[in-house]
Amino acid sequence: MEVRPAENKSFDYDFVVIGSGFGGSVSALRLAEKGYRVAVLEMGRRWTPENLPPTSWSIHRWFWRPQLGLRGFFNMRFFRHVTILHGCAVGGGSITYAGTLLRPPQKVWTMGSWQGLAAWSTEMPRHYDTAERMLGVIENRILGPADLLLKKASDALGIGDTFYRTNVAILQDAEGETAPRTVPDPFFGGRGPARTTCNGCGGCMMGCRHGAKNTLDLNYLYLAERLGVQLFAETKVIDVRPLAGSADGSAGYEVTTVRSTALLPTVRRTLTCRSVVFAASSLGTTELLFRLKDKSSLPRISRQLGRHIRTNSESLIGVRIPGSAQDLSKGVAIGSGVYIDELTHVEAVRYPSGSDAMSLLSTILTGGRPGQSRIGLWLRNLVSALALHPLKTLRLLVPSRWARESIILLCMQAAEAHIDMKWERVLWWPFRKFLVSRGQKVPTFIPQTNEFAQQMAAISGGTAMSMLPEILFDVPGTAHCLGGCVMGDSAESGVVDAQHRVFGYANMYVCDGSVVSANLGVNPSLTITALAERAMSFIPPSLRISGAGCGRAREPVKEEY
Ligand SMILES: Cc1cc2nc3c(=O)[nH]c(=O)nc-3n(C[C@H](O)[C@H](O)[C@H](O)COP(=O)(O)OP(=O)(O)OC[C@H]3O[C@@H](n4cnc5c(N)ncnc54)[C@H](O)[C@@H]3O)c2cc1C
Ligand code: SF4
Repeated sequence: MEVRPAENKSFDYDFVVIGSGFGGSVSALRLAEKGYRVAVLEMGRRWTPENLPPTSWSIHRWFWRPQLGLRGFFNMRFFRHVTILHGCAVGGGSITYAGTLLRPPQKVWTMGSWQGLAAWSTEMPRHYDTAERMLGVIENRILGPADLLLKKASDALGIGDTFYRTNVAILQDAEGETAPRTVPDPFFGGRGPARTTCNGCGGCMMGCRHGAKNTLDLNYLYLAERLGVQLFAETKVIDVRPLAGSADGSAGYEVTTVRSTALLPTVRRTLTCRSVVFAASSLGTTELLFRLKDKSSLPRISRQLGRHIRTNSESLIGVRIPGSAQDLSKGVAIGSGVYIDELTHVEAVRYPSGSDAMSLLSTILTGGRPGQSRIGLWLRNLVSALALHPLKTLRLLVPSRWARESIILLCMQAAEAHIDMKWERVLWWPFRKFLVSRGQKVPTFIPQTNEFAQQMAAISGGTAMSMLPEILFDVPGTAHCLGGCVMGDSAESGVVDAQHRVFGYANMYVCDGSVVSANLGVNPSLTITALAERAMSFIPPSLRISGAGCGRAREPVKEEY
């Protein structure tokens, strides 16, 4: 049963939002605008231009593994079926993301478990419009050498007409203007922070140190905090359970947290709330809900939890041009893309000069069947390349200058493929349960894109490259993990309904990438934002604002964004 969240001073907050990424930030702002008292609990740290790492070699300020003293904003999780790259910060994935925001093709609403649950194609456009306005989306005006190389290769292959400039959430000057300018808030009528225009340094995925990328802490979260939302950084949620007296949470929830950056996170803190929004990302929410279901805090969560995890059928390959006369790291992190065919989409990606740590995972592209035969072929190719062209091959493999000499190709397919996540004991450590992947492997290589990389290498005098885990372990990498709490018409087919309400519980929602119920084939953050805008539009204003049931009505605090 859905209960209108009441003003009730016996709760610490009306709403607790777990996670401050795209879904969490939208929820926080919109709920505050509706007059609710909101807390956002975020495991990651707050980042500013002053404390962001200069390059990816500052591992302790880039990577997130607090138990090892690494307190950055970027994480990699390794599973049998997939390596998942994701963000962890105040602002979620927006601190490390490339800022590419694309609308998926209409057909995604007729695929997956959300099909038929709502009039998606008529409802979603207005929420995409709002999301684009809030995130400050424009067509990229800075094409770097890597983008021009993508254009050249696509022209040579007869698909030049599909080349496009990405839509990005970056403050840019007019085309050709390269001197950055600091300007008063250009987006929210003066209520947002001052901003600086982009200098095309290519550093977006290391966190923008120039204030040009429209990260969530500069828009949704900034405005939410202005409205009184309390954001607790370095605060990890470890338990959520209904308050005594209601198994379905209709009497509210108790949320338990620990300090995420403590070496021994033993001190616990609890707070109470009327309603909870899980917004900890596809992987984060799925893992947290598994944990809570398993320890009987939230036993009613649907058995569909962890099912239909999608990786956007992604593969990361690239081309390295040792001694390249042009600095391929210049531009914005993802400046352009092409469509190889109706299903297959490739984007030109880069890291900033000096951020060469990712090169440790890159090697010569090798085709063939997955498994031992591909490893054998890769070893043969590597040994013969070293024997025939020792210097050239070594220059391909050394980290130094990798970012300046490489174009990464992010390949995505809007094809239907998914895996499942389970909460199980593993043979090598049977004392506790872990999140493990199950199901059919998603292909590591997309033959069309491999061919494209090889053609690009031939045109540019470079060598096609791929990710080492894809070759050695037949495991694809993805920065776009989606699903795990997909939508359904009941708990038998999904974890949430089409308004993001969790089946089995009252006043509990999921608003993040875990609810995405089909492969999008494009970068997902715009869709996650638009879905969260839609979900929040169903929540009525607080009784404090409407006046119903609590005496005198108060003026809405809503400011028009
Ligand atoms: C390198 C990189 C580049 C990317 N580039 C793009 C791009 O250009 N365009 C695009 O659309 N997408 C991009 N993505 C993907 C994008 O970042 C994600 O799709 C998006 O951030 C997901 O949004 P979300 O709301 O689901 O969760 P997130 O943004 O991931 O936020 C979830 C937050 O919850 C927090 N959290 C998790 N568990 C807990 C807990 N127990 N307690 C408290 N807090 C918790 C996490 O720390 C995190 O900050 C990129 C990702 C990476 C890694
Ligand atoms: S290219 Fe550089 S200045 Fe521009 S948004 Fe990215 S990191 Fe910021």
